[in-house]
Amino acid sequence: GKPILEVRDLTVEYDTGDRPVVAVDAVDLDVHPGEFVGVVGESGCGKSTLLFAIAQLLSPPAAITSGTVRFQGQNLVAMSEKKLAALRWRDFSVVMQSAMNALNPVTSIGSQFSDAIRAHDEPVTDERPAEVLRLVGIDPIHLKSYPHQLSGGMRQRAMIAMALLFTPDLIIMDEPTSALDVVAQRSLMVQIKELQQQLGFAVVFVTHDMSLISHFSDQLVVMYAGQTVELGATRAVFDHPAHPYSKGLLDAFPSIRGPKVPLTGIPGSPPNLADPPTGCRFHPRCPEAFADCPKVEPELYQVGAVQARCLLHAPGQKQPAEPVREAT
Ligand code: SF4
Ligand code: MG
Repeated sequence: GKPILEVRDLTVEYDTGDRPVVAVDAVDLDVHPGEFVGVVGESGCGKSTLLFAIAQLLSPPAAITSGTVRFQGQNLVAMSEKKLAALRWRDFSVVMQSAMNALNPVTSIGSQFSDAIRAHDEPVTDERPAEVLRLVGIDPIHLKSYPHQLSGGMRQRAMIAMALLFTPDLIIMDEPTSALDVVAQRSLMVQIKELQQQLGFAVVFVTHDMSLISHFSDQLVVMYAGQTVELGATRAVFDHPAHPYSKGLLDAFPSIRGPKVPLTGIPGSPPNLADPPTGCRFHPRCPEAFADCPKVEPELYQVGAVQARCLLHAPGQKQPAEPVREAT
């Protein structure tokens, strides 16, 4: 079927007065109805910026400098703020990392829901706020509560409830569980997945935690230094990661790949986007780098069922007979 969200060649630059910093570099992304797409990468890889760009929530000095974001066939990049405001919450909604920042601290949960309802020309029943709170497992009595009266987990759930008010087709989530402890994180993920299956909305879910997303997403997009470095079905990326960065991310979370071993992670840190490395941007950290890597910019190449931005997979490239992986 047709994707509900089609991102093409999306580029976001930060105008720093000096050289522009490219935070999102020509990213393509497809999300089909009811699909759960995970976007993973270390902090600073551009994943949150990508999500803000999709939702048209960037503010200066960040701006979309090229590309399109087609949602239900309409290009959001070219849309007026008025039309966007009508679509947000109703057709797609956004759940941020911290509900504490997203919710108004001096207004009860119930009046924030009412405000969102009043702002849209879309009839919902008087019962709807109580209904969506029940959906996320919160007693509707908390419509009277203020954000600070709820636990961190309940605040995130309240945000998700608000995102569900109009039963949107797409919910965009930026690390909505990252402020929670491991147990609360897991239970919120399970709940999001259940709601998604029950209500049928699509999800774009940004996270740094590959092990968390692996159990929930259908498709995976791995980002590094503003670029997509690997994408494909979650299962395929997990079973046969094609990009050395994806392998490194998986090794950073060994519990899902077998016995517990000390976390190796990926040595070094992501590059300064104002001055990214030449050639493959991952080359200074890549355990498999070879002579061409600092010189040639890789494209996304088809590798079995996935696509990877790595010269090892460039057509005609002589590959090592066995993947080069150091035992740890
Ligand atoms: Fe590593 Fe080279 Fe592939 Fe980049 S292109 S990921 S440096 S092997
Ligand atoms: Mg972020």
